Amino acid sequence: MRLDVVSIFPDYFAPLGLSLVGKAIAAGTVDLAVHDLRTWTHDRHHTTDDTPYGGGAGMVMKPEPWGEALDALEAASPLPMTIVVPTPAGRPFTQAMAYELAARERLVFACGRYEGIDQRVIDHCRERYDVVEVSLGDYVLNGGEVASLAVIEAVVRLLPGVIGNPDSLLEESHSTGNEQLLEYPNYTKPPVWRDRAVPEVLLSGNHALIAKWRRERAMERTRERRPDLLGEDFS
Ligand code: SAM
Repeated sequence: MRLDVVSIFPDYFAPLGLSLVGKAIAAGTVDLAVHDLRTWTHDRHHTTDDTPYGGGAGMVMKPEPWGEALDALEAASPLPMTIVVPTPAGRPFTQAMAYELAARERLVFACGRYEGIDQRVIDHCRERYDVVEVSLGDYVLNGGEVASLAVIEAVVRLLPGVIGNPDSLLEESHSTGNEQLLEYPNYTKPPVWRDRAVPEVLLSGNHALIAKWRRERAMERTRERRPDLLGEDFS
C-alpha cells in the first residue's frame, strides 16, 4: 500500500518509523512518503493560510498549495488515490472504515490546520478522486496530523503480514469475528498477583468453556460501557 501524507508539520510523522508500522515500511508492505505542504508555496514566507471570507476568527488554508500538492502526487504514481481528510465534520472513524481503507491501493492524507482547508479543495478532489472525510471523535484537535497517525496505525495493522498472528485481529474489540463487541478482559502469568487470582476457567484447559466465559464477559462489558454497540440506549 502506498501512503502519502501532506502536512505543514511533517515531523509529526517520525514515530511511524517505530514498532509495527515501522516494520511494515521496512518490509515494503507500506510505501510511506511525508510531504511538506510548504514545498508548493511560492512566496518568501511559504504562506499556507489566509483570512476567511465572510470574516470571523482564525485562518483558512489556501487552496493553491493544496491544488499543486495533489496534482504533483497524482503525477508521481499511477495508483488511484483515495484522499483522506481528517475533520471534526467527517464520518466518525470506525474499525469498519479501517478495513475499508485497508483495501485501497493508495491513501493520501490531507492534514488541515487553523480553521481547516478551503472547501473548494475538497469539492475539486471529489470530482477527481475518492474522498473520505473522517472524524476521530466529537472533539477538536489542532490539526489533522494526530488524526492521520491514528488512521494510519489502524489501517496498516490490518494489512496482510503486519500482525504476527492474524487471529488476534479476529478476536479484538469491534471486529466482526468478535460480533463487534468489546473484547473480554485479558490475563497473563502469574496466576495470583497481589491476592488477585486469574479466573479459574482460564486455567481449566477447556476451550469450549473458555470461549463461553469470554463471550459472556465481552457481552457484559459491551452492555455496561457501550450499549449503543448493541443497539441499546445509554441510560
Ligand atoms: N474549524 C474546524 C471546525 O470547527 O470543524 C476545526 C479546525 S481544527 C482547529 C484544525 C484541523 O484539525 C482540522 O482541519 C482537522 O484537520 C483537524 N481536526 C480537528 N479535530 C479533528 C477531529 N475530531 N477529527 C479529525 N480531524 C480533526
